[in-house]
Amino acid sequence: MNRKIVVAGAGHGGVVAAAKLAEKGYDVTVFEKKCRKDVGFDWHDTFRITCFADADIPLPPEENYSRSFSLAFTNPAKTVMITAPDTNDGTNCSMDRRYLINYLINYAESKGVKFCFNTQITGVIADKDRILGVVTAKGNKKKAVFADLVIDSAGINSDVRSMLPQKFSIPNDMPDNSVFTVYRAYFERISPENPANPYTVHLFHRKKPGISWVIAKNDYFDVLIGHFGKELNEDDIQAAIKDLKEEYHAIGDRIIRGGSVEQIPLGRTLPLIVADGYAAVGDSASMTIPIMGSGIANSIRAGKMLADAVIADTTGNFTCETLWKYQYNYFTKIGNNLVIADKLREICTQITAEDIDYALEKELLSQKDISLGAEAEFNIGYIIQKVIKALPKLPVITNAAITLSKYNTIKKILAEIPEEYNKEHIDEWLKKYNNI
Ligand SMILES: Cc1cc2nc3c(=O)[nH]c(=O)nc-3n(C[C@H](O)[C@H](O)[C@H](O)COP(=O)(O)OP(=O)(O)OC[C@H]3O[C@@H](n4cnc5c(N)ncnc54)[C@H](O)[C@@H]3O)c2cc1C
Repeated sequence: MNRKIVVAGAGHGGVVAAAKLAEKGYDVTVFEKKCRKDVGFDWHDTFRITCFADADIPLPPEENYSRSFSLAFTNPAKTVMITAPDTNDGTNCSMDRRYLINYLINYAESKGVKFCFNTQITGVIADKDRILGVVTAKGNKKKAVFADLVIDSAGINSDVRSMLPQKFSIPNDMPDNSVFTVYRAYFERISPENPANPYTVHLFHRKKPGISWVIAKNDYFDVLIGHFGKELNEDDIQAAIKDLKEEYHAIGDRIIRGGSVEQIPLGRTLPLIVADGYAAVGDSASMTIPIMGSGIANSIRAGKMLADAVIADTTGNFTCETLWKYQYNYFTKIGNNLVIADKLREICTQITAEDIDYALEKELLSQKDISLGAEAEFNIGYIIQKVIKALPKLPVITNAAITLSKYNTIKKILAEIPEEYNKEHIDEWLKKYNNI
């Protein structure tokens, strides 16, 4: 099949889809704005390594990942510390992010994918019906690149998605309240002194809506400061670091790795992720687990599902109709399960530091509840029951909480996603999905 596929951005799902498609003989090129050595983040992240098997990709050698360890949580007033029991079955692992994306890029190259680094997508070429290609820029050299399909794997602030004509009905921007803005850096360790817990999450640290975490390692401290929304200013970052240093005396001043501010989509998957000649995957489609912000495994799994749908389209037209198979598969296997977690995310953005102090001090949320909530793929039914029970006792009643109590109705709406492409039925379903 000599069809031409362009992948915008070397995101995990895009690179996986690229590999699977090149393996089947498609002509696939990935355009990535960063240079090769800078792709991926400069730190380690945790995800389910079972996603490699799900995507039918060989597992990296064992020495390149380690088992992640369990967390402790503290409330804004720092009066309660809850240590989550270790529920990791051994598949939740931590891996160097640069290593991971390079492993996937090498794998894709071995299947025949062409990579153009230092090349930014700066424009989208579209006619009234479909996406026809992209405009790339390398230095000051611009080029129109036409393709039969553009795979958008350019992350949360994808330039491709943000430039899509409105008639394709795919949101150009992530809503403000579903974005988590984070600063993360590894600081040098200046003494062997260890905190009570190696991995502590500060809920609503300094009473700001969000979290901070401190992970004590042998040689460094991994520090994260995150706020709900698109804003995180330098003063807040510095004030949070100062507060943490006062508590964790072994954190030094020197930054060893990271030190950047990034954004994570925390909401449910975008309602529509395909158009004629276009499909979004990973953060550009908001595929992270809401609240947790873990998106690596879903992105890798979705990349495989997207490639399967493309390969199944033997006409090679890659229309909304044929790509719907990808959206249907992704939503029924993963995306729909994230909607309830998204409602929990809404609650988190509506409560206050005082609510959290109250819930933890009055033991409305226990060690077990928090640990289940902290799992990469948590038991949503259990958490909902707990939250519904705990919320009436909290000094907040939110719309989200009321919606959560309609759990079965939500499940029914989600299950109604049309299996076959029918524009009218899909439009009806999208309306309901958006209204949950
Ligand atoms: C601090 C932090 C911690 C996180 N921790 C975890 C974790 O522990 N576990 C987990 O599963 N997830 C975690 N995530 C989320 C995770 O990073 C994403 O969900 C995951 O990487 C999926 O994103 P992606 O592959 O779609 O896109 P990305 O990884 O964002 O990749 C997008 C790529 O597109 C490129 N690009 C962007 N625009 C253009 C353009 N115009 N032209 C060309 N190239 C372009 C970018 O340079 C980038 O290489 C974390 C995120 C952050 C910020």
